[in-house]
Amino acid sequence: MIRFEEVSVHYEGARAPALTGVDLTVPEGELALLVGPSGVGKSTLLGTVSGLVPHFTGGTLRGRVTVDGRDTRTHRPRELADVVGTVGQDPLAHFVTDVVEDELAYGMESLGLPPETMRRRVEETLDLLGLAELRDRPIASLSGGQMQRVAIGSVLTPHPRVLVLDEPTSALDPAAAEEVLAVLQRLVHDLGTTVLMAEHRLERVVHYADQLVLLPGPGERARSGDPAELMAV
Ligand code: ADP
Ligand code: ADP
Repeated sequence: MIRFEEVSVHYEGARAPALTGVDLTVPEGELALLVGPSGVGKSTLLGTVSGLVPHFTGGTLRGRVTVDGRDTRTHRPRELADVVGTVGQDPLAHFVTDVVEDELAYGMESLGLPPETMRRRVEETLDLLGLAELRDRPIASLSGGQMQRVAIGSVLTPHPRVLVLDEPTSALDPAAAEEVLAVLQRLVHDLGTTVLMAEHRLERVVHYADQLVLLPGPGERARSGDPAELMAV
């Protein structure tokens, strides 16, 4: 579960807050879709969940963001790896290793798990994401959809309860985007993972969403609710 309590973010030197008045809950095992025009604070909002904001970006976070009860301001992003996984638009920017299965193992390295558990989790994740046949492949040789699945897999092996994605399909063609969305649906339905995802091509994903979070414009409060009801306004 993700909980925002009257969250605002003000970057140093900026005249206005980048984000203001976010007060909402994404319940366990639901998919929430974050929408709004460019520059309205979507990446900032996602960053408050992963802990990137304010730890790496600077600025002031007011209010409180908790992920499965852990306050993201008082934990370093590294300390949240087993709670929240984060994937951005560009899978290439994400990778730390060169080969698919090494990448899946890498995310668990700081968790102190027994080697046998790590091996089992790599196997499970390869199967879950349909990557078993690609395990030995150089990541650089994969298609965009395959790369994005590897990026998602690499944050799943620590078994986070929450997954945060910033426009994960925006660099993909429609077929590859469908591959990634199908994986997210499986995570929500089969593993009860909570997903918060920003996406600008709303029509592509709105039918997967349990909740829509709308950032209407700079400085305006977030609105959230049932996708069909919010879309009808
Ligand atoms: P979106 O993801 O909706 O495009 P962002 O969260 O990236 O919006 O940006 C919201 C506002 O905050 C923009 O005006 C942007 O220029 C500003 N901003 C984003 N990151 C930083 C940062 N690290 N330092 C200062 N200003 C920032
Ligand atoms: P271990 O913690 O030793 O790896 P398991 O591999 O049996 O133990 O996984 C424990 C539980 O985690 C299983 O019920 C499994 O369904 C669930 N699980 C598997 N993958 C994920 C995931 N990505 N996120 C959350 N739970 C997961």
